[in-house]
Amino acid sequence: MNSPIAIDRNEILKRYKPIVQHTHKGMQGHALIIGGSYGKIGAMCLASKAALKTGCGLVTAFVPQCGYDIVQIAIPEVMVVTDDHDKYLSEITFHLEPNAIGIGPGMGQKMATQKALHDFLSNTSLPLVIDADALNILAHNSSWVALISPRTVLTPHPKELERLIGKWYSEEEMFSKAVIFSLVNQVVIVMKGAPTYIIDGDAIYVNTTGNAALATAGSGDVLTGMITSLLAQSYKPIDAAILGVYLHGLTADIALPETGHQSFIASSIIENIGKAYLSLE
Ligand code: AMP
Ligand code: MG
Repeated sequence: MNSPIAIDRNEILKRYKPIVQHTHKGMQGHALIIGGSYGKIGAMCLASKAALKTGCGLVTAFVPQCGYDIVQIAIPEVMVVTDDHDKYLSEITFHLEPNAIGIGPGMGQKMATQKALHDFLSNTSLPLVIDADALNILAHNSSWVALISPRTVLTPHPKELERLIGKWYSEEEMFSKAVIFSLVNQVVIVMKGAPTYIIDGDAIYVNTTGNAALATAGSGDVLTGMITSLLAQSYKPIDAAILGVYLHGLTADIALPETGHQSFIASSIIENIGKAYLSLE
């Protein structure tokens, strides 16, 4: 196994592209975030707001109808498109031209949603982040992994990773299974945890930011929005994953002296993305 490359400030400054002054929103990329189900629209609010705060010019949320008012009221800057179904996704079709798509937050695993995911994956070749229940659906239907477009970013937490690559009995086995999965399926795997590792073929990276304050509901949904936003801004998938994970962790390091671990919530990550960017200047 190759030893992990530390994702530190130096690695980030090699990849980070500051915004040019003459840009306009059309040049900053359009992120589409797909997910949500009755009772879990909050995950979509978090991911969509995080995408905007990470710098893309436009964000659209695709949600079941019950999410329409919720997302519009929670984040007026986000556009909303709805599925025909009221409570869960049943058919993922839209007339939009996003630059990148994030799918999975709060999505649930209804049969109709599983079919919708299958058809969506069969028909898209855009840069993609797959998270949460979209990963769980893939784990149940392992032949569908072949439908994923190359260079897609997967963001499993440890349980989701285990469902995807199978059980491991040592850290070494976990890495070797993840590397094989990445090589065979041509995907970037963000193995979320403490610390987070990123696998790109046989290259392994380890993040150096973040702390236990991130162990809070919605933290992963925020990360999905951030990485999707960076993909929409034309970062390469591995660079979007590296920069997204680093900034996500940095927000918790910056906020810790003010909030302490206990009162830091997923919205606190979003509130501190600006400070995390500023610390790179
Ligand atoms: P999720 O489980 O999908 O909500 O994702 C949780 C996010 O928080 C991931 O980005 C994890 O890496 C991060 N996280 C959770 N617990 C810790 C911890 N103890 N230290 C650092 N990061 C953590
Ligand atoms: Mg999650």
